[in-house]
Amino acid sequence: MTTPSSFDAIIVGAGSVGTPTALALAASGLKVLALDRLPSVGQGSNKRAIGGLRATHSDPAKIRICLRSLEIFATWKHRTGVDIEWHQGGYSYVAYRPEEERTLKELLAGQKAGGLNIDWLDAPALLEVIPDLRRDGLIGGTFSPEDGNASPLLAIHAFYRRAQALGAVFRFDERLTGLIASGGRVTGVRTDKGEYGAPVVINAAGPWGAEVAALAGIDVPVRPDSHEGAVTEAVARFLGPMVVDIRPVAGSANYYFYQHATGQVIFCITPSPSLWGMDVRETSSFLPMVASRMVDLIPRLKNLRVRRTWRGLYPMTPDGFPIVGWARELEGYMLAVGMCGQGFMLGPGLGELIARMVLGTTTGDDRETLTYLSPYREFKGMEKLK
Ligand SMILES: Cc1cc2nc3c(=O)[nH]c(=O)nc-3n(C[C@H](O)[C@H](O)[C@H](O)COP(=O)(O)OP(=O)(O)OC[C@H]3O[C@@H](n4cnc5c(N)ncnc54)[C@H](O)[C@@H]3O)c2cc1C
Repeated sequence: MTTPSSFDAIIVGAGSVGTPTALALAASGLKVLALDRLPSVGQGSNKRAIGGLRATHSDPAKIRICLRSLEIFATWKHRTGVDIEWHQGGYSYVAYRPEEERTLKELLAGQKAGGLNIDWLDAPALLEVIPDLRRDGLIGGTFSPEDGNASPLLAIHAFYRRAQALGAVFRFDERLTGLIASGGRVTGVRTDKGEYGAPVVINAAGPWGAEVAALAGIDVPVRPDSHEGAVTEAVARFLGPMVVDIRPVAGSANYYFYQHATGQVIFCITPSPSLWGMDVRETSSFLPMVASRMVDLIPRLKNLRVRRTWRGLYPMTPDGFPIVGWARELEGYMLAVGMCGQGFMLGPGLGELIARMVLGTTTGDDRETLTYLSPYREFKGMEKLK
């Protein structure tokens, strides 16, 4: 080995995906290095996530990965003694128009077949779960009681500390600048501070995934777009599930909100058209737009005071599904990018799947999952619950 330190695997990016992946690889006994150009763990998109954790997706791959993630999040405190503010409030997609009722009902059979605990509730049953919902026009909605939420900051720090305890090495303020390869195979990485050797390099660079892949001569269709979030003051619990309203209106595609374990309501909206680019400066248009939709849905929310807004990036792909798999262009190079709006919920389950890929121990289910996420798929469809 010509490089000063060598590892079994190097992860580029210590974010929502890279950090739990470092944990899963270290737990498998591998010597792992995670590099991040920012000063500490989770400073990219991870800390901008609002904390929603669901296995309620439209495809078997994300359902399977997130069911495993939910197990990890839900049992973390019990297994490690560390509180990540997990709260199992469930998710509810509400329908006020036949269009959304149809979309949501059409997904139910596939979701149940994938092992998801989910049902359609008519309006009276849904009002028992979310009594404050506007009643006029409510048709019903889905309810998946085993989904939940947690703190992205506490969770990533918990994964980071556990990974370190298992021997994973993290280097911050260190940027990947190039790949070292020989005979079509990756042998290490070059950074702005040095060189490291490894037979496996995993690109988990989130919104910067395409830029990092280009350093290996690989083209991946990951394009960041920006989304804003906000948090209110804390109040006594009045809201169980994350509420998602997928009705498109002028200016926004959907919005979602929940009450955190510590009492704050945290919320987000999906702008329409998308705001492509890396701009993370907050806007003055976000809050009036999302607040009017939320207060229309749950009038009681008008009494809450907003404490802070922020803006962050979704690493988007053309079809709304992540890109995970070995690169054909360079042996030993893996892509784990394009998590869209779901990197926090995918992270721990995906980290374990990546560990099985590196160890060569994937199962039949894993291989089926990976066909959905293949970097070489046609990117034709569109995720229905993105
Ligand atoms: C407002 C908002 C709300 C959201 N809500 C949710 C939610 O409720 N649930 C959910 O699951 N997801 C949510 N998301 C999406 C989630 O934040 C992302 O999908 C997720 O963080 C992406 O994870 P990642 O690991 O791919 O990227 P990141 O967490 O951004 O990690 C990538 C890391 O790579 C590092 N990096 C980049 N280039 C280099 C380089 N050259 N060298 C070294 N390091 C590099 C970056 O510094 C960064 O730390 C939300 C996002 C936003 C903006």
